[in-house]
Amino acid sequence: MKIVSPFLKRVLYPAMSGAGVLHRTSAPGLAVVTYHGVVPQGYELVDAALDGNLVTAEMLRRQLRLLKARYNVISPEDVLAWREGQRELPPRAVLVTCDDGLLNCLTDMLPLLRQEKVSCLFFVTGASSGDLRKTLWYEDLFLVFLRAPAGRFEISSDGVVVEGELGSRAQRSAIWWNSVKRLSQVDEGRRTSFLRTARTHFGLEAERVFEENPVSCRRFGLLTCGELRELVSAGMTIGAHTLSHPMLSQLPLELATDEISESRRRLESAVQQRVWGFAYPFGDPQSVTPEVLAIPKEAGYAAAFLNFGGGLGTDLPPYALPRVHVTAEMNLAEFEAQVCGFYARLQRFAGRGAGATQG
Ligand SMILES: [Zn+2]
Repeated sequence: MKIVSPFLKRVLYPAMSGAGVLHRTSAPGLAVVTYHGVVPQGYELVDAALDGNLVTAEMLRRQLRLLKARYNVISPEDVLAWREGQRELPPRAVLVTCDDGLLNCLTDMLPLLRQEKVSCLFFVTGASSGDLRKTLWYEDLFLVFLRAPAGRFEISSDGVVVEGELGSRAQRSAIWWNSVKRLSQVDEGRRTSFLRTARTHFGLEAERVFEENPVSCRRFGLLTCGELRELVSAGMTIGAHTLSHPMLSQLPLELATDEISESRRRLESAVQQRVWGFAYPFGDPQSVTPEVLAIPKEAGYAAAFLNFGGGLGTDLPPYALPRVHVTAEMNLAEFEAQVCGFYARLQRFAGRGAGATQG
């Protein structure tokens, strides 16, 4: 469990941040922050569990300015040079990363990064090595279970059976998360067929977001290969986030290996650059196993990133680098408490593990 107390969030962190205590007490090392994109202008939030990983443009700007004023924001290339023993990290080093490769990374996030002169490591899936606009299967699945009529159901598709009772928001969310785990056990083709069967079962239309709604496209659409190259031309760095974003701990090891190594090959071919960084999909403690954590090194990556436990002063295993998962509900002082490592030290002091995240 995480310690998330209103007192810490609303009183202690703001007081410490305001007094300048947090960055002065920072521990050595590297803090890596994870974004998942920016809420596109005009998008109306659907659900906290669905949209809670995206921050507003205004909050991103405030966070980047805080990092630049009080920390040393280093580039992805600096991190690679540090990993390869060519340079030391400066004090209070922070790296900015962003997972998934939604279109808003280019349309809404990049302009801000350029204005603030911050270089970001974007972890994208194999979907962004092609020309066809795709979506994230687990977001599509969330919308299916959110919009499905209430009541008992059983869906069987190509050997995957999911059943349960849809009612409250909590029930829908629990069924969705169990289904994410179940569908992570099969390949992308079977996940796609399951989604098609589920939509038919519940009488739902497929999301035709792109032609009709450019805002929805920026929220749910993934970058195409051409757009990925635009990020690279703007000075950003591309890392891999598997081919199809499964929860790797659920997948047979052979398929997990393919997801990790083949995504690197396809993305390198798409951007004509070395892809040296990898981020585990979802990235919480349940999404990896010791066997999965051993794959990126074998696959030729120089570093691999989790999505929890980050902050200055934390251990930095090269293939399980911790990160600070930035969420919409995080205020600026709480963000700084996590970056400077105070939050992680508090968790250790309380003898509790870091909380689970998703993304
Ligand atoms: Zn992700």
